[in-house]
Amino acid sequence: MPDLTTLTLDAKYMILSEWYQLSEEAIIILDAEFRYIEVNKSYIELIGFERKFLVGRLFGIYQSNFVEKSSLKLIKKALSRLPLNQSYQRDFLAMTSYGIKVPINMTIWHLEADDQSYYLCIFKDNSSIREDQQKIEYLQNYNPLTNLPNRQFFVRRLSELLLDSYQEVAVVRISIDSYRLLVSSLGQETVDLLICQFVQRISDLNLSNLSCFAHFGGDNFAMIFELSEVNLVRNQLDSLMQLCEIPFSVNDSTLYIHISVGVSYYPGNGQQMDVLIRHADKALEYIKHQGGDDIYWFKEKLNHNKLIDLQLETDLRQAFDESQFVAYYQPKVELSGGKIVGFEALVRWQHPTRGLLPPSEFIGAIITHKLSFDLFLQMAQKVVALLARWQELNLKAHLCLNADAAEFNQVTFVTALHNLLATHDIDPVNIHIEMTESSLMLRHQAIKAQLAALKALGVCLALDDFGTGYASLSYLQEFPFDFIKVDRSFVANITEKPIQQHIVKAITTLADALDMKIVAEGIEDIDQRHLLTELGCQFGQGYLFGRPMTEDQATSLLLDQAKYGLV
Ligand code: C2E
Ligand code: MG
Ligand code: MG
Repeated sequence: MPDLTTLTLDAKYMILSEWYQLSEEAIIILDAEFRYIEVNKSYIELIGFERKFLVGRLFGIYQSNFVEKSSLKLIKKALSRLPLNQSYQRDFLAMTSYGIKVPINMTIWHLEADDQSYYLCIFKDNSSIREDQQKIEYLQNYNPLTNLPNRQFFVRRLSELLLDSYQEVAVVRISIDSYRLLVSSLGQETVDLLICQFVQRISDLNLSNLSCFAHFGGDNFAMIFELSEVNLVRNQLDSLMQLCEIPFSVNDSTLYIHISVGVSYYPGNGQQMDVLIRHADKALEYIKHQGGDDIYWFKEKLNHNKLIDLQLETDLRQAFDESQFVAYYQPKVELSGGKIVGFEALVRWQHPTRGLLPPSEFIGAIITHKLSFDLFLQMAQKVVALLARWQELNLKAHLCLNADAAEFNQVTFVTALHNLLATHDIDPVNIHIEMTESSLMLRHQAIKAQLAALKALGVCLALDDFGTGYASLSYLQEFPFDFIKVDRSFVANITEKPIQQHIVKAITTLADALDMKIVAEGIEDIDQRHLLTELGCQFGQGYLFGRPMTEDQATSLLLDQAKYGLV
Protein backbone atom coordinates (compact mmCIF):
# COMPACT_ATOMS: atom_id res chain seq x y z
CA MET A 1 0.00 0.00 0.00
CA PRO A 2 1.45 3.36 -0.97
CA ASP A 3 1.63 5.97 1.80
CA LEU A 4 2.47 9.68 1.63
CA THR A 5 6.23 9.04 1.88
CA THR A 6 6.20 6.98 -1.32
CA LEU A 7 4.73 9.83 -3.39
CA THR A 8 6.73 12.30 -5.42
CA LEU A 9 7.55 15.64 -3.85
CA ASP A 10 5.14 17.43 -6.17
CA ALA A 11 2.28 15.06 -5.38
CA LYS A 12 3.03 15.34 -1.67
CA TYR A 13 3.08 19.15 -1.86
CA MET A 14 -0.18 19.27 -3.80
CA ILE A 15 -2.07 17.00 -1.40
CA LEU A 16 -0.72 18.61 1.77
CA SER A 17 -1.30 22.15 0.55
CA GLU A 18 -4.86 21.20 -0.44
CA TRP A 19 -5.39 19.66 3.00
CA TYR A 20 -3.93 22.77 4.59
CA GLN A 21 -6.19 25.06 2.58
CA LEU A 22 -9.33 23.06 3.33
CA SER A 23 -8.71 22.85 7.08
CA GLU A 24 -11.40 24.46 9.19
CA GLU A 25 -8.75 25.66 11.58
CA ALA A 26 -6.98 28.87 10.70
CA ILE A 27 -3.34 28.04 9.90
CA ILE A 28 -0.40 30.26 9.00
CA ILE A 29 3.30 29.64 8.38
CA LEU A 30 5.82 32.27 9.48
CA ASP A 31 9.54 32.41 8.68
CA ALA A 32 12.31 32.85 11.23
CA GLU A 33 11.68 36.63 11.29
CA PHE A 34 7.93 36.05 11.87
CA ARG A 35 6.98 37.02 8.32
CA TYR A 36 3.97 35.38 6.75
CA ILE A 37 4.92 32.93 4.07
CA GLU A 38 1.56 31.22 3.82
CA VAL A 39 -1.99 31.60 5.20
CA ASN A 40 -5.00 29.34 4.62
CA LYS A 41 -8.60 30.24 3.75
CA SER A 42 -9.90 29.89 7.32
CA TYR A 43 -7.28 32.36 8.54
CA ILE A 44 -8.29 34.84 5.86
CA GLU A 45 -11.95 34.43 6.85
CA LEU A 46 -11.07 34.76 10.49
CA ILE A 47 -9.18 38.02 10.33
CA GLY A 48 -10.55 39.49 7.11
CA PHE A 49 -7.24 40.29 5.34
CA GLU A 50 -6.35 38.95 1.88
CA ARG A 51 -3.47 36.53 1.31
CA LYS A 52 -1.64 38.95 -0.93
CA PHE A 53 -1.77 41.61 1.76
CA LEU A 54 -0.38 39.30 4.38
CA VAL A 55 2.38 37.27 2.67
CA GLY A 56 5.75 38.91 3.19
CA ARG A 57 4.50 41.11 6.02
CA LEU A 58 5.52 40.76 9.63
CA PHE A 59 3.09 38.87 11.87
CA GLY A 60 1.68 41.63 14.03
CA ILE A 61 2.32 44.46 11.59
CA TYR A 62 -1.35 45.18 11.89
CA GLN A 63 -1.07 44.26 15.53
CA SER A 64 -3.46 46.87 16.78
CA ASN A 65 -6.10 45.21 14.63
CA PHE A 66 -5.49 41.63 15.51
CA VAL A 67 -3.51 40.93 18.65
CA GLU A 68 -3.45 43.32 21.56
CA LYS A 69 -0.05 44.89 22.11
CA SER A 70 0.43 43.20 25.46
CA SER A 71 -0.43 39.75 24.07
CA LEU A 72 1.76 40.24 21.00
CA LYS A 73 4.73 41.16 23.12
CA LEU A 74 4.33 37.98 25.16
CA ILE A 75 3.85 35.84 22.06
CA LYS A 76 6.99 37.20 20.39
CA LYS A 77 9.00 36.76 23.52
CA ALA A 78 7.83 33.17 23.89
CA LEU A 79 8.54 32.38 20.23
CA SER A 80 12.06 33.75 20.32
CA ARG A 81 12.81 31.24 23.09
CA LEU A 82 10.80 28.35 21.71
CA PRO A 83 13.10 25.33 21.16
CA LEU A 84 13.01 23.45 17.90
CA ASN A 85 10.10 20.97 17.46
CA GLN A 86 8.35 22.36 20.53
CA SER A 87 5.02 24.13 20.68
CA TYR A 88 3.62 27.15 22.51
CA GLN A 89 -0.04 27.70 23.36
CA ARG A 90 -1.95 30.80 24.31
CA ASP A 91 -5.52 32.14 24.54
CA PHE A 92 -6.08 35.73 23.54
CA LEU A 93 -8.79 38.01 22.30
CA ALA A 94 -8.22 38.78 18.61
CA MET A 95 -9.66 41.81 16.86
CA THR A 96 -10.64 41.06 13.27
CA SER A 97 -10.46 43.68 10.52
CA TYR A 98 -14.25 43.86 10.89
CA GLY A 99 -13.76 45.17 14.42
CA ILE A 100 -15.15 42.07 16.14
CA LYS A 101 -13.38 40.57 19.13
CA VAL A 102 -12.92 36.81 18.81
CA PRO A 103 -11.55 34.62 21.58
CA ILE A 104 -8.71 32.60 20.03
CA ASN A 105 -6.68 29.64 21.13
CA MET A 106 -3.29 29.67 19.33
CA THR A 107 -0.72 26.86 19.07
CA ILE A 108 2.65 27.61 17.45
CA TRP A 109 5.13 24.91 16.43
CA HIS A 110 8.79 25.68 15.86
CA LEU A 111 9.96 23.58 12.86
CA GLU A 112 13.10 23.40 10.79
CA ALA A 113 13.53 22.69 7.07
CA ASP A 114 16.65 23.18 4.96
CA ASP A 115 18.38 24.61 8.04
CA GLN A 116 15.79 27.34 8.27
CA SER A 117 13.38 27.97 11.19
CA TYR A 118 9.70 28.16 10.49
CA TYR A 119 6.68 28.65 12.70
CA LEU A 120 3.47 26.81 12.03
CA CYS A 121 0.59 28.56 13.83
CA ILE A 122 -2.88 27.07 14.30
CA PHE A 123 -5.72 29.28 15.55
CA LYS A 124 -8.95 27.94 17.02
CA ASP A 125 -12.02 30.13 17.37
CA ASN A 126 -13.12 29.63 20.99
CA SER A 127 -16.29 31.71 20.73
CA SER A 128 -18.75 28.97 21.69
CA ILE A 129 -16.63 27.77 24.63
CA ARG A 130 -16.21 31.36 25.66
CA GLU A 131 -19.94 31.96 25.41
CA ASP A 132 -20.62 28.95 27.62
CA GLN A 133 -18.03 30.19 30.08
CA GLN A 134 -19.61 33.61 30.07
CA LYS A 135 -23.05 32.08 30.68
CA ILE A 136 -21.73 30.08 33.61
CA GLU A 137 -19.92 33.11 34.98
CA TYR A 138 -23.15 35.08 34.63
CA LEU A 139 -25.23 32.46 36.42
CA GLN A 140 -22.66 32.28 39.19
CA ASN A 141 -22.69 35.98 39.78
CA TYR A 142 -26.05 37.44 38.83
CA ASN A 143 -29.70 36.94 39.63
CA PRO A 144 -31.44 35.81 36.44
CA LEU A 145 -34.71 37.66 37.20
CA THR A 146 -33.35 41.11 37.92
CA ASN A 147 -29.84 40.87 36.42
CA LEU A 148 -28.53 42.26 39.68
CA PRO A 149 -25.39 40.80 41.29
CA ASN A 150 -26.18 37.85 43.55
CA ARG A 151 -24.99 37.02 47.06
CA GLN A 152 -21.67 35.60 45.87
CA PHE A 153 -20.84 38.75 43.93
CA PHE A 154 -21.97 40.90 46.87
CA VAL A 155 -19.75 39.06 49.33
CA ARG A 156 -16.74 39.42 47.01
CA ARG A 157 -17.37 43.11 46.52
CA LEU A 158 -17.73 43.68 50.25
CA SER A 159 -14.51 41.86 51.03
CA GLU A 160 -12.68 43.92 48.39
CA LEU A 161 -13.92 47.11 50.00
CA LEU A 162 -13.02 45.95 53.49
CA LEU A 163 -9.48 45.16 52.35
CA ASP A 164 -9.20 48.82 51.55
CA SER A 165 -8.90 49.56 55.25
CA TYR A 166 -9.64 53.27 55.08
CA GLN A 167 -12.91 52.76 53.32
CA GLU A 168 -15.91 52.94 55.65
CA VAL A 169 -18.93 51.06 54.37
CA ALA A 170 -22.60 50.58 55.23
CA VAL A 171 -24.08 47.14 54.65
CA VAL A 172 -27.81 47.29 53.96
CA ARG A 173 -30.28 44.41 53.89
CA ILE A 174 -33.72 44.97 52.41
CA SER A 175 -36.79 42.79 52.30
CA ILE A 176 -40.35 43.30 51.16
CA ASP A 177 -42.97 43.12 53.92
CA SER A 178 -45.57 40.34 53.65
CA TYR A 179 -43.78 38.92 50.62
CA ARG A 180 -45.25 35.45 51.09
CA LEU A 181 -48.68 36.90 51.25
CA LEU A 182 -48.09 38.72 47.97
CA VAL A 183 -46.95 35.49 46.34
CA SER A 184 -49.85 33.46 47.64
CA SER A 185 -52.44 36.01 46.68
CA LEU A 186 -51.03 37.35 43.39
CA GLY A 187 -49.01 34.39 42.14
CA GLN A 188 -45.25 34.19 41.59
CA GLU A 189 -45.34 35.57 38.04
CA THR A 190 -47.06 38.80 39.02
CA VAL A 191 -44.79 39.20 42.02
CA ASP A 192 -41.76 38.74 39.75
CA LEU A 193 -43.00 41.62 37.59
CA LEU A 194 -43.47 43.68 40.72
CA ILE A 195 -39.92 42.88 41.86
CA CYS A 196 -38.53 43.97 38.47
CA GLN A 197 -40.38 47.30 38.70
CA PHE A 198 -39.15 47.77 42.24
CA VAL A 199 -35.55 47.14 41.16
CA GLN A 200 -35.94 49.50 38.20
CA ARG A 201 -37.17 52.27 40.49
CA ILE A 202 -34.22 51.83 42.80
CA SER A 203 -31.79 51.83 39.86
CA ASP A 204 -33.41 55.01 38.54
CA LEU A 205 -32.67 56.73 41.84
CA ASN A 206 -28.97 56.63 40.89
CA LEU A 207 -28.01 56.51 44.53
CA SER A 208 -24.63 58.09 45.02
CA ASN A 209 -21.88 56.12 46.80
CA LEU A 210 -23.79 52.91 46.09
CA SER A 211 -21.06 50.40 45.45
CA CYS A 212 -23.23 47.32 44.99
CA PHE A 213 -26.95 46.58 44.72
CA ALA A 214 -27.54 42.86 44.92
CA HIS A 215 -30.52 40.51 44.72
CA PHE A 216 -30.11 37.33 46.72
CA GLY A 217 -33.42 35.94 45.40
CA GLY A 218 -37.11 36.35 46.31
CA ASP A 219 -37.59 39.53 48.32
CA ASN A 220 -34.05 39.46 49.55
CA PHE A 221 -31.88 42.46 48.58
CA ALA A 222 -28.64 43.97 49.78
CA MET A 223 -26.61 47.09 49.19
CA ILE A 224 -23.16 48.37 50.00
CA PHE A 225 -22.60 52.08 50.38
CA GLU A 226 -19.16 53.59 50.56
CA LEU A 227 -19.45 55.89 53.53
CA SER A 228 -18.03 59.32 53.45
CA GLU A 229 -20.89 60.90 55.29
CA VAL A 230 -23.36 58.87 57.38
CA ASN A 231 -26.16 61.35 56.87
CA LEU A 232 -25.85 60.98 53.14
CA VAL A 233 -26.59 57.26 53.46
CA ARG A 234 -29.49 58.03 55.77
CA ASN A 235 -30.94 60.30 53.10
CA GLN A 236 -30.43 57.71 50.40
CA LEU A 237 -32.22 55.10 52.48
CA ASP A 238 -35.07 57.52 53.15
CA SER A 239 -35.50 57.93 49.41
CA LEU A 240 -35.77 54.14 49.15
CA MET A 241 -38.64 54.17 51.63
CA GLN A 242 -40.31 57.03 49.77
CA LEU A 243 -40.30 55.23 46.45
CA CYS A 244 -42.65 52.69 47.98
CA GLU A 245 -45.21 55.38 48.70
CA ILE A 246 -45.98 55.55 44.99
CA PRO A 247 -48.13 52.61 43.89
CA PHE A 248 -46.88 50.00 41.44
CA SER A 249 -48.95 48.99 38.50
CA VAL A 250 -48.73 45.33 37.56
CA ASN A 251 -51.10 43.55 35.17
CA ASP A 252 -53.61 46.39 35.44
CA SER A 253 -53.68 46.23 39.25
CA THR A 254 -52.45 48.96 41.52
CA LEU A 255 -50.25 47.60 44.26
CA TYR A 256 -48.40 49.04 47.19
CA ILE A 257 -45.43 47.44 48.82
CA HIS A 258 -43.62 48.20 52.02
CA ILE A 259 -40.04 47.41 52.74
CA SER A 260 -37.95 46.83 55.83
CA VAL A 261 -34.31 47.85 55.92
CA GLY A 262 -31.54 46.76 58.30
CA VAL A 263 -28.14 48.49 58.31
CA SER A 264 -24.75 47.81 59.82
CA TYR A 265 -21.57 49.76 59.19
CA TYR A 266 -17.85 49.27 59.17
CA PRO A 267 -15.90 49.83 61.34
CA GLY A 268 -18.51 50.70 64.02
CA ASN A 269 -20.55 47.45 63.93
CA GLY A 270 -17.82 44.95 63.17
CA GLN A 271 -14.52 44.40 61.44
CA GLN A 272 -15.27 41.24 59.52
CA MET A 273 -17.47 40.74 56.56
CA ASP A 274 -19.62 37.95 57.99
CA VAL A 275 -20.18 39.88 61.23
CA LEU A 276 -21.29 42.96 59.29
CA ILE A 277 -23.72 40.96 57.16
CA ARG A 278 -25.05 39.16 60.23
CA HIS A 279 -25.56 42.44 62.05
CA ALA A 280 -27.41 43.98 59.10
CA ASP A 281 -29.56 40.81 59.03
CA LYS A 282 -30.30 41.14 62.73
CA ALA A 283 -31.29 44.78 62.30
CA LEU A 284 -33.60 43.71 59.47
CA GLU A 285 -35.15 40.90 61.50
CA TYR A 286 -35.63 43.26 64.41
CA ILE A 287 -37.45 45.87 62.39
CA LYS A 288 -39.62 43.24 60.71
CA HIS A 289 -40.48 41.93 64.14
CA GLN A 290 -41.57 45.45 65.08
CA GLY A 291 -44.04 45.48 62.22
CA GLY A 292 -41.69 46.39 59.35
CA ASP A 293 -42.00 49.33 56.95
CA ASP A 294 -39.01 51.06 58.52
CA ILE A 295 -35.20 51.35 58.66
CA TYR A 296 -33.16 50.14 61.61
CA TRP A 297 -29.44 50.67 62.21
CA PHE A 298 -27.84 47.78 64.09
CA LYS A 299 -27.35 48.29 67.82
CA GLU A 300 -25.36 46.03 70.10
CA LYS A 301 -28.46 45.32 72.24
CA LEU A 302 -29.79 43.17 69.37
CA ASN A 303 -27.11 40.62 70.15
CA HIS A 304 -28.73 40.10 73.55
CA ASN A 305 -32.33 40.34 72.45
CA LYS A 306 -34.01 37.10 73.43
CA LEU A 307 -37.29 38.24 71.94
CA ILE A 308 -36.14 37.59 68.44
CA ASP A 309 -35.87 33.89 68.06
CA LEU A 310 -34.16 34.01 64.70
CA GLN A 311 -33.69 30.27 64.52
CA LEU A 312 -37.37 29.59 65.06
CA GLU A 313 -38.31 32.10 62.41
CA THR A 314 -35.83 30.62 59.95
CA ASP A 315 -37.23 27.17 60.71
CA LEU A 316 -40.80 28.41 60.25
CA ARG A 317 -40.05 29.99 56.89
CA GLN A 318 -38.37 26.80 55.79
CA ALA A 319 -41.41 24.87 56.99
CA PHE A 320 -43.58 26.90 54.62
CA ASP A 321 -41.18 26.51 51.72
CA GLU A 322 -40.81 22.78 52.22
CA SER A 323 -44.46 22.07 53.07
CA GLN A 324 -43.65 20.67 56.50
CA PHE A 325 -47.09 21.49 57.89
CA VAL A 326 -49.54 18.61 57.85
CA ALA A 327 -53.22 18.50 58.65
CA TYR A 328 -54.78 16.03 61.10
CA TYR A 329 -58.52 15.62 61.19
CA GLN A 330 -60.69 15.16 64.26
CA PRO A 331 -64.25 13.87 63.76
CA LYS A 332 -67.24 15.97 64.73
CA VAL A 333 -70.38 13.94 65.45
CA GLU A 334 -74.10 14.46 65.88
CA LEU A 335 -74.56 13.76 69.59
CA SER A 336 -78.03 12.25 69.25
CA GLY A 337 -77.15 9.51 66.76
CA GLY A 338 -73.36 9.53 66.65
CA LYS A 339 -73.11 10.21 62.92
CA ILE A 340 -69.88 11.86 61.75
CA VAL A 341 -70.91 15.12 60.11
CA GLY A 342 -67.50 16.64 59.59
CA PHE A 343 -63.90 16.92 60.76
CA GLU A 344 -61.80 19.73 62.20
CA ALA A 345 -58.45 20.24 60.48
CA LEU A 346 -55.72 20.65 63.09
CA VAL A 347 -52.24 21.61 62.06
CA ARG A 348 -49.11 19.67 62.99
CA TRP A 349 -45.55 20.60 62.13
CA GLN A 350 -43.48 17.72 60.80
CA HIS A 351 -40.22 19.25 62.04
CA PRO A 352 -37.09 17.77 60.39
CA THR A 353 -35.28 17.24 63.72
CA ARG A 354 -37.90 17.66 66.47
CA GLY A 355 -40.56 15.32 65.08
CA LEU A 356 -44.30 15.96 64.88
CA LEU A 357 -45.05 19.15 66.83
CA PRO A 358 -48.50 20.17 68.18
CA PRO A 359 -49.78 23.71 67.49
CA SER A 360 -49.06 24.85 71.06
CA GLU A 361 -45.34 24.73 70.16
CA PHE A 362 -45.50 27.12 67.22
CA ILE A 363 -48.86 28.89 66.71
CA GLY A 364 -47.71 31.75 68.95
CA ALA A 365 -44.57 32.26 66.87
CA ILE A 366 -46.59 32.08 63.66
CA ILE A 367 -48.79 34.90 64.88
CA THR A 368 -45.82 36.96 66.13
CA HIS A 369 -44.06 36.63 62.78
CA LYS A 370 -47.23 37.51 60.94
CA LEU A 371 -47.36 34.18 59.15
CA SER A 372 -50.86 33.15 60.20
CA PHE A 373 -52.41 33.97 56.86
CA ASP A 374 -49.78 31.85 55.10
CA LEU A 375 -50.68 28.99 57.43
CA PHE A 376 -54.35 29.48 56.81
CA LEU A 377 -53.81 29.32 53.04
CA GLN A 378 -51.74 26.15 53.28
CA MET A 379 -54.33 24.47 55.49
CA ALA A 380 -57.16 25.70 53.26
CA GLN A 381 -55.47 24.16 50.23
CA LYS A 382 -55.21 20.80 51.98
CA VAL A 383 -58.78 20.95 53.19
CA VAL A 384 -60.21 21.89 49.81
CA ALA A 385 -58.22 19.12 48.11
CA LEU A 386 -59.59 16.61 50.63
CA LEU A 387 -63.15 17.83 50.08
CA ALA A 388 -62.64 17.37 46.35
CA ARG A 389 -61.44 13.81 47.00
CA TRP A 390 -64.52 13.10 49.14
CA GLN A 391 -66.76 14.63 46.52
CA GLU A 392 -65.40 12.11 44.01
CA LEU A 393 -66.04 9.28 46.46
CA ASN A 394 -69.53 10.65 47.06
CA LEU A 395 -68.81 11.14 50.77
CA LYS A 396 -70.68 13.87 52.58
CA ALA A 397 -68.95 15.74 55.39
CA HIS A 398 -67.72 19.24 56.04
CA LEU A 399 -64.26 20.37 57.14
CA CYS A 400 -63.45 23.04 59.74
CA LEU A 401 -60.49 25.37 59.45
CA ASN A 402 -59.04 27.29 62.37
CA ALA A 403 -58.22 30.92 61.76
CA ASP A 404 -56.72 33.65 63.84
CA ALA A 405 -58.81 36.78 63.55
CA ALA A 406 -55.62 38.68 62.64
CA GLU A 407 -55.83 37.03 59.23
CA PHE A 408 -59.11 38.72 58.47
CA ASN A 409 -57.30 42.01 58.21
CA GLN A 410 -55.94 40.70 54.94
CA VAL A 411 -57.97 42.24 52.20
CA THR A 412 -57.33 39.20 50.03
CA PHE A 413 -58.69 36.75 52.60
CA VAL A 414 -62.17 36.37 51.16
CA THR A 415 -60.99 36.45 47.52
CA ALA A 416 -58.28 33.87 48.14
CA LEU A 417 -60.81 31.53 49.74
CA HIS A 418 -63.36 32.14 47.02
CA ASN A 419 -60.81 31.33 44.28
CA LEU A 420 -59.69 28.20 46.03
CA LEU A 421 -63.24 26.90 46.39
CA ALA A 422 -64.09 27.80 42.81
CA THR A 423 -60.99 26.05 41.41
CA HIS A 424 -61.94 22.78 43.09
CA ASP A 425 -65.66 23.24 42.56
CA ILE A 426 -66.42 22.96 46.27
CA ASP A 427 -69.71 24.07 47.80
CA PRO A 428 -68.72 26.78 50.36
CA VAL A 429 -71.17 25.36 52.89
CA ASN A 430 -68.75 22.44 53.35
CA ILE A 431 -66.16 24.78 54.81
CA HIS A 432 -66.50 25.96 58.39
CA ILE A 433 -64.19 28.62 59.73
CA GLU A 434 -63.49 28.67 63.43
CA MET A 435 -62.05 31.63 65.21
CA THR A 436 -61.46 32.00 68.90
CA GLU A 437 -63.39 34.33 71.07
CA SER A 438 -60.19 36.01 72.28
CA SER A 439 -58.82 36.79 68.82
CA LEU A 440 -62.22 38.19 67.92
CA MET A 441 -62.38 40.50 70.92
CA LEU A 442 -59.06 42.08 70.01
CA ARG A 443 -60.36 43.26 66.69
CA HIS A 444 -64.02 43.73 67.29
CA GLN A 445 -64.86 46.40 64.74
CA ALA A 446 -62.39 45.63 61.97
CA ILE A 447 -63.58 42.08 61.71
CA LYS A 448 -67.28 42.61 61.35
CA ALA A 449 -67.18 43.46 57.65
CA GLN A 450 -64.92 40.51 56.86
CA LEU A 451 -67.18 38.08 58.68
CA ALA A 452 -70.14 39.42 56.73
CA ALA A 453 -68.20 38.94 53.48
CA LEU A 454 -67.35 35.36 54.46
CA LYS A 455 -70.99 34.70 55.25
CA ALA A 456 -71.95 36.12 51.87
CA LEU A 457 -69.49 33.70 50.28
CA GLY A 458 -71.54 30.88 51.78
CA VAL A 459 -69.10 29.37 54.29
CA CYS A 460 -70.18 28.55 57.85
CA LEU A 461 -68.66 30.34 60.82
CA ALA A 462 -67.94 28.96 64.27
CA LEU A 463 -66.92 30.69 67.48
CA ASP A 464 -64.18 28.50 69.00
CA ASP A 465 -63.28 27.96 72.65
CA PHE A 466 -66.41 29.76 73.80
CA GLY A 467 -66.33 30.65 77.48
CA THR A 468 -62.59 31.25 77.76
CA GLY A 469 -62.27 34.71 76.22
CA TYR A 470 -64.78 36.51 78.44
CA ALA A 471 -66.56 37.91 75.40
CA SER A 472 -69.60 39.87 76.17
CA LEU A 473 -72.62 37.71 75.46
CA SER A 474 -74.03 40.60 73.50
CA TYR A 475 -71.24 40.07 70.93
CA LEU A 476 -72.98 36.92 69.87
CA GLN A 477 -75.89 38.77 68.33
CA GLU A 478 -73.52 41.10 66.48
CA PHE A 479 -71.66 38.35 64.67
CA PRO A 480 -73.18 35.94 62.18
CA PHE A 481 -71.99 32.65 63.71
CA ASP A 482 -73.58 29.34 62.77
CA PHE A 483 -71.88 27.35 65.53
CA ILE A 484 -70.63 27.98 69.04
CA LYS A 485 -67.96 25.58 70.28
CA VAL A 486 -68.15 25.23 74.05
CA ASP A 487 -64.62 25.02 75.39
CA ARG A 488 -63.32 21.78 76.73
CA SER A 489 -62.72 23.34 80.18
CA PHE A 490 -66.53 23.39 80.68
CA VAL A 491 -66.86 19.81 79.51
CA ALA A 492 -63.98 18.24 81.46
CA ASN A 493 -65.74 18.21 84.84
CA ILE A 494 -69.32 18.78 83.83
CA THR A 495 -70.61 15.59 85.40
CA GLU A 496 -69.33 16.61 88.85
CA LYS A 497 -70.01 20.34 88.82
CA PRO A 498 -73.63 21.48 88.65
CA ILE A 499 -72.51 25.08 88.04
CA GLN A 500 -70.85 24.05 84.77
CA GLN A 501 -74.10 22.38 83.77
CA HIS A 502 -75.99 25.62 84.42
CA ILE A 503 -73.52 27.57 82.33
CA VAL A 504 -73.77 25.15 79.41
CA LYS A 505 -77.56 25.18 79.66
CA ALA A 506 -77.52 29.00 79.53
CA ILE A 507 -75.30 28.91 76.47
CA THR A 508 -77.49 26.41 74.62
CA THR A 509 -80.62 28.45 75.40
CA LEU A 510 -78.99 31.62 74.11
CA ALA A 511 -77.70 29.83 71.00
CA ASP A 512 -81.20 28.50 70.31
CA ALA A 513 -82.60 31.99 70.48
CA LEU A 514 -79.93 33.23 68.08
CA ASP A 515 -80.40 30.25 65.76
CA MET A 516 -76.90 28.97 66.36
CA LYS A 517 -75.88 25.35 66.96
CA ILE A 518 -73.65 24.12 69.78
CA VAL A 519 -70.58 21.91 69.44
CA ALA A 520 -69.20 20.60 72.74
CA GLU A 521 -65.41 20.17 72.65
CA GLY A 522 -63.26 17.64 74.48
CA ILE A 523 -65.83 14.92 75.22
CA GLU A 524 -63.87 12.01 76.65
CA ASP A 525 -66.48 9.71 78.19
CA ILE A 526 -69.98 8.49 77.64
CA ASP A 527 -71.46 10.24 80.72
CA GLN A 528 -70.29 13.60 79.45
CA ARG A 529 -71.88 12.85 76.10
CA HIS A 530 -75.28 11.96 77.62
CA LEU A 531 -75.31 14.98 79.87
CA LEU A 532 -74.35 17.39 77.08
CA THR A 533 -77.02 15.94 74.82
CA GLU A 534 -79.60 16.49 77.58
CA LEU A 535 -78.40 20.06 78.01
CA GLY A 536 -79.15 20.75 74.36
CA CYS A 537 -75.79 20.43 72.59
CA GLN A 538 -76.36 19.13 69.06
CA PHE A 539 -72.78 18.24 68.13
CA GLY A 540 -69.67 17.02 69.89
CA GLN A 541 -65.97 16.48 69.41
CA GLY A 542 -63.50 14.63 71.61
CA TYR A 543 -61.39 11.57 72.18
CA LEU A 544 -64.56 9.55 72.83
CA PHE A 545 -65.36 9.78 69.13
CA GLY A 546 -61.86 9.98 67.76
CA ARG A 547 -58.49 11.65 68.14
CA PRO A 548 -57.06 13.84 65.38
CA MET A 549 -56.11 11.41 62.59
CA THR A 550 -54.56 11.36 59.14
CA GLU A 551 -56.43 12.17 55.96
CA ASP A 552 -56.55 8.50 54.94
CA GLN A 553 -57.89 7.40 58.33
CA ALA A 554 -60.58 10.09 58.20
CA THR A 555 -61.53 9.01 54.68
CA SER A 556 -61.85 5.35 55.63
CA LEU A 557 -64.02 6.27 58.65
CA LEU A 558 -66.37 8.07 56.28
CA LEU A 559 -66.29 5.18 53.79
CA ASP A 560 -67.19 2.71 56.60
CA GLN A 561 -69.98 5.00 57.74
CA ALA A 562 -71.35 5.16 54.21
CA LYS A 563 -71.10 1.39 53.81
CA TYR A 564 -72.18 0.05 57.21
CA GLY A 565 -74.11 2.97 58.67
CA LEU A 566 -72.87 4.41 61.95
CA VAL A 567 -69.45 3.23 63.12
P1 C2E B 1 -59.06 23.95 69.04
O1 C2E B 1 -59.43 24.50 67.71
O2 C2E B 1 -59.97 24.20 70.15
O3 C2E B 1 -58.83 22.41 68.77
C1 C2E B 1 -59.15 21.44 69.67
C2 C2E B 1 -57.95 20.99 70.42
O4 C2E B 1 -58.36 20.13 71.46
C3 C2E B 1 -57.02 20.18 69.56
O5 C2E B 1 -55.71 20.35 70.05
C4 C2E B 1 -57.47 18.76 69.85
O6 C2E B 1 -56.47 17.80 69.60
C5 C2E B 1 -57.78 18.85 71.32
N1 C2E B 1 -58.76 17.86 71.69
C6 C2E B 1 -59.79 17.41 70.95
N2 C2E B 1 -60.53 16.52 71.66
C7 C2E B 1 -59.94 16.41 72.87
C8 C2E B 1 -60.25 15.65 74.04
O7 C2E B 1 -61.20 14.85 74.10
N3 C2E B 1 -59.44 15.81 75.13
C9 C2E B 1 -58.39 16.65 75.10
N4 C2E B 1 -57.64 16.74 76.19
N5 C2E B 1 -58.05 17.39 74.00
C10 C2E B 1 -58.84 17.27 72.89
P2 C2E B 1 -54.56 20.76 69.13
O8 C2E B 1 -54.64 20.01 67.87
O9 C2E B 1 -53.34 20.69 69.95
O10 C2E B 1 -54.89 22.25 68.79
C11 C2E B 1 -54.81 23.22 69.75
C12 C2E B 1 -55.28 24.53 69.20
O11 C2E B 1 -54.40 25.00 68.18
C13 C2E B 1 -56.61 24.45 68.51
O12 C2E B 1 -57.60 24.46 69.44
C14 C2E B 1 -56.59 25.68 67.66
O13 C2E B 1 -56.95 26.82 68.41
C15 C2E B 1 -55.11 25.80 67.30
N6 C2E B 1 -54.97 25.29 65.94
C16 C2E B 1 -54.91 24.02 65.50
N7 C2E B 1 -54.76 23.97 64.15
C17 C2E B 1 -54.73 25.27 63.74
C18 C2E B 1 -54.60 25.92 62.45
O14 C2E B 1 -54.52 25.29 61.40
N8 C2E B 1 -54.61 27.29 62.43
C19 C2E B 1 -54.72 28.02 63.58
N9 C2E B 1 -54.74 29.36 63.49
N10 C2E B 1 -54.86 27.45 64.79
C20 C2E B 1 -54.85 26.10 64.88
MG1 MG C 1 -60.83 24.81 66.60
MG1 MG D 1 -61.51 24.83 70.49
